Amino acid sequence: MDWQVAGHKKQLEFLEQTIKRGRLAHAYVFAGPQGVGKRMVAHKLAQILICENNQACNSCKQCKSFVLKNNADFIELGGSEAIKIEQIRDLIYKLSLKPYLAQYKVAVIDAAENMTEEAQNALLKSIEEPKPYTIVILITSSPDRLKKTILSRAQKINFGVVDYDGYKYLLPLKLSTAQKALIQNFASQKPGLALKIAMDEEFLSMLANTEKQLDDFLSEDKSKRLLLVNQLSESETAELLLTLDLWQNRLESELRKNPHKKLADRIALLGESQSLVRQNLNAKLVLVNLMLQADYA
Ligand SMILES: [Zn+2]
Repeated sequence: MDWQVAGHKKQLEFLEQTIKRGRLAHAYVFAGPQGVGKRMVAHKLAQILICENNQACNSCKQCKSFVLKNNADFIELGGSEAIKIEQIRDLIYKLSLKPYLAQYKVAVIDAAENMTEEAQNALLKSIEEPKPYTIVILITSSPDRLKKTILSRAQKINFGVVDYDGYKYLLPLKLSTAQKALIQNFASQKPGLALKIAMDEEFLSMLANTEKQLDDFLSEDKSKRLLLVNQLSESETAELLLTLDLWQNRLESELRKNPHKKLADRIALLGESQSLVRQNLNAKLVLVNLMLQADYA
């Protein structure tokens, strides 16, 4: 089976054996860091299950509609927003209908930890008494935010990071050396993120800017740094979180090449700052605090 997925050999082998033996679970939890390719594996698994040739052949009717994102036997929801009970009820209804063409009906819930309590309870009921043809895949980077009762009903598969060498062959050939270096620096060990960046010209040029910002932030030049704090504190929360996360990725990849305590401390500070921003603390205060602490780190 050609999964066309970077890394995760053991996990793919396990899934392949499960499919061959017809021993699929009705619910899976794909857990692991963001951007390592969990969603890609979930999509591939879904496609294999609904493909007329059971192999994600890309040429049968089912695969074609899957690729065009209008396959009635595949349902996907989730993202960065809260997942509400109405969405889960709608999902459960769609899952209750028999598959149109496939043997299975597959649902993927991305960032499943964003399900509200009620949404999780509703989903739990449906995975406790699943229809024989339904498969639900929950993707999460924080499995601890899922109800224990859901975790206990689902088969959990853990995904780890993947080295750059393990996925670089999947990057588009047209990328320049500088672009590849950016991807390697900012998405090292995260093939999902790396491919997303590689396909997106705008993201790539934004990264070049992010790199410059990080240099400014760590420079000795106080005015540059304050200007940057001012500028960043005016960006949207999601954008600010992305910047901090990318900075963290960048320092993490540096840390792997050249481990020292100062870097490790700065990485911890970046993680802390992100959680403060998520708690709706004033962005400017968080950034000033980060700037001051990074000096002492
Ligand atoms: Zn097919």
